[in-house]
Amino acid sequence: MADPRDYYEVLGVARDASPEELKRAYRKLALQFHPDRNKEPNAEARFKEISEAYQVLSDTEKRSTYDRFGHAGMRGAGFQPGFRDLDEIFSQFSDLFGDLFGFGTPRRRSGAQRGADLEYNLVIPFLEAAHGGERDLQVPKSAPCPTCKGTGAKPGTEPIRCPTCGGRGQVVQAQGFFRIQATCPTCRGEGVVIREPCPECRGRGTVPTTEKIHVKLPAGVDEGMQLRLAGKGEPGRKGGPPGDLFVTVHVEPHPDFRRRGDDVLITVPMSFPQACLGAVLKVPTVDGETDLEIPPSTPSGKVFVLRGKGIPSVRTPRRRGDQLVEVVVAVPRSLSAEEEVLVRKLAELQDDKVAERGFWRDLVSRLTS
Ligand SMILES: [Zn+2]
Ligand SMILES: [Zn+2]
Repeated sequence: MADPRDYYEVLGVARDASPEELKRAYRKLALQFHPDRNKEPNAEARFKEISEAYQVLSDTEKRSTYDRFGHAGMRGAGFQPGFRDLDEIFSQFSDLFGDLFGFGTPRRRSGAQRGADLEYNLVIPFLEAAHGGERDLQVPKSAPCPTCKGTGAKPGTEPIRCPTCGGRGQVVQAQGFFRIQATCPTCRGEGVVIREPCPECRGRGTVPTTEKIHVKLPAGVDEGMQLRLAGKGEPGRKGGPPGDLFVTVHVEPHPDFRRRGDDVLITVPMSFPQACLGAVLKVPTVDGETDLEIPPSTPSGKVFVLRGKGIPSVRTPRRRGDQLVEVVVAVPRSLSAEEEVLVRKLAELQDDKVAERGFWRDLVSRLTS
């Protein structure tokens, strides 16, 4: 087999090219002859050729051997330059190809990982949201396994270097046009695998637990609001910080009160005589009952405002919403004989047309019997 071309010639650089110049030249040519981009029949061969040249010249020791003894020197030193296939090239020069093709340099595993954030959904009654309160939550999360101290390996054994990725945590996969770095499926990016898993945690390194976490709910907290408890999420790994706990508040509906922002809405009944003559109504508020004076001739559906009787503002301390009271005339389900006489008398005075006594009642009972 004939010797390959001169490596400096292949890369088009001077014999005294600096490592920076070599890298630039290789990247430029790699981009040009990348088999995913260049469909010329000899592109792959050229790509392998420049990669081989760069493999030798980018390594100080190999470069000096090559400088002194040429291709024969490489063989003499027991080194067979070149690559079996493209994947080998991509995985060896993954740092170069990462940003060359826009995938970013694969991040080196520093080991330390921040714990995951946790979300907890907390349902509270309407009045507790209005007044605030304190709760002890039982939050399911994980804790480092006490048996293996979080390593996942059976006590007395050690995790071994991952055979799939050789400990890099990354593998190169072909995907359409590109070859991309992917997290190693065997070790999930850890670089190590556990041969004998810890019997307690089955190799996960963590065990499920429940942590009691105390939360203070501010007065005025509303549906969908989130409280963030820094550092109360999942524990970090290998010295990483823990995640956060997000408590999402859900407020149960109340049979009487509705809420609009910090205002409370309520509908209360008044009788026809109260609407006509005026009255003092007992009205529930979030702080208990209060008196509402309605003037004579109050129309049904009128809204009265009780200033500052609403819900404390969760954002602006000492500010409170209002309570809006809608009063509606309540019509009695049935009238006593005496009441009916009086209402008929009133209708007569006002010259109102009303149903004959008993007519509708008789009709309805005939239809429904
Ligand atoms: Zn364990
Ligand atoms: Zn692996």
